[in-house]
Amino acid sequence: MLLLVGSILLVPQISSAQSSGPVLSDARIGEREGETRFVLEFDRAVPYKVFTLAGPDRVVIDLPSVDWKGPGLDEVRGRGLIGGYRHGLFKPGITRVVIDLSAPATVMRHFALDAANNSGPRVVIDLGPVSKTTPSTVAMESAGWGAYAQELARSSPAIATPGPPPGSNKRVVVLDPGHGGVDPGAISTSGVYEKKVVLSYAKALKKALEATGRYDVVLTRDRDIFIPLRDRYQVAHEVNAGLFISLHADSHNSSSLRGLSVYTLSDKASDKEAEALATKENRSDLLAGTDLTGYEADVTSILISLAQQSVKQSSAYFAEILVDEMQTSARLLRNPHRFAGFAVLKSPNIPSVLIELGYLSNKSDEASLMSASHQAKMADGMVRSIDLYFDRKEKLERS
Ligand SMILES: [Zn+2]
Repeated sequence: MLLLVGSILLVPQISSAQSSGPVLSDARIGEREGETRFVLEFDRAVPYKVFTLAGPDRVVIDLPSVDWKGPGLDEVRGRGLIGGYRHGLFKPGITRVVIDLSAPATVMRHFALDAANNSGPRVVIDLGPVSKTTPSTVAMESAGWGAYAQELARSSPAIATPGPPPGSNKRVVVLDPGHGGVDPGAISTSGVYEKKVVLSYAKALKKALEATGRYDVVLTRDRDIFIPLRDRYQVAHEVNAGLFISLHADSHNSSSLRGLSVYTLSDKASDKEAEALATKENRSDLLAGTDLTGYEADVTSILISLAQQSVKQSSAYFAEILVDEMQTSARLLRNPHRFAGFAVLKSPNIPSVLIELGYLSNKSDEASLMSASHQAKMADGMVRSIDLYFDRKEKLERS
């Protein structure tokens, strides 16, 4: 008898009228004789693709984009070979589930089940233990996946980054809400997701900057979707931005730690905390189930050429202005300007900073981050900082 945990009683789902795509109604984990079964249940049959990744050991399941009504990210409990899992929009048309394995495992079986009794159509993945020497499995897919992937590529739903309007001579700022989709970022104990908080702040700041009439603002993402780190600063290049700002909200083991901090790129970290933070933030691509073979070295090694020195100075200059200006708008962390090897700040020619707006692990910071008035105050402070930065820089260039 297969033991299923975390299962909900399936009440015939009254599907939400506004969404026409497939609905995932449940995700559950069962254990039997050393094997771990992962079951995804839907309101209709869906095609899927499954593959494994090593270093760290993961199993990735790609699905058409689904309306997820299964357990939330904060409700997921690992069991058997499954340490935990995340899900989210990986790219337009693809919902990805990334399973973190608690031990090396292989896909023993995978199959689709039709609706039966009280259950909807299901996708079933059976995982079994494997010795470290066994080569990783190649991608396996259901009958309909090839056709779905082809149709997706043909209809090409990828959205081009909206650049500044042609002929505009306003200052261009790129705002980068961290994480997204399958990578939630930090999650507070009450279930607040970093990916949602930072998107909301980025939208508010975009609005405030554009209201001045001096800026064209481009967001690296305007919804809950995964964006690889490299693509984020690539956006800044495409639109020839004057400034790139990545927005985050950290969490920390010490729940008393609070306040805003700003980070710039350096091959040597200013302190242990900044170094640990960069390592954590750089894990985004890995969390999303991206194959980093031949990529990691590029991301982790940071060589700053002479040509990059002036960009590095401009980034630090902006960070210092921000720290000064934000003092009246927000509580700051001790030594609020720090530096470390953040992959998302690696643009060689665009001044870039990463702002940690506060700590989701701190109750007061969490409450502030969720408050509209605090958001407005922060946006005001950031607009002042960005104004000062461009004003001083443009004055310098004219003189
Ligand atoms: Zn983050």
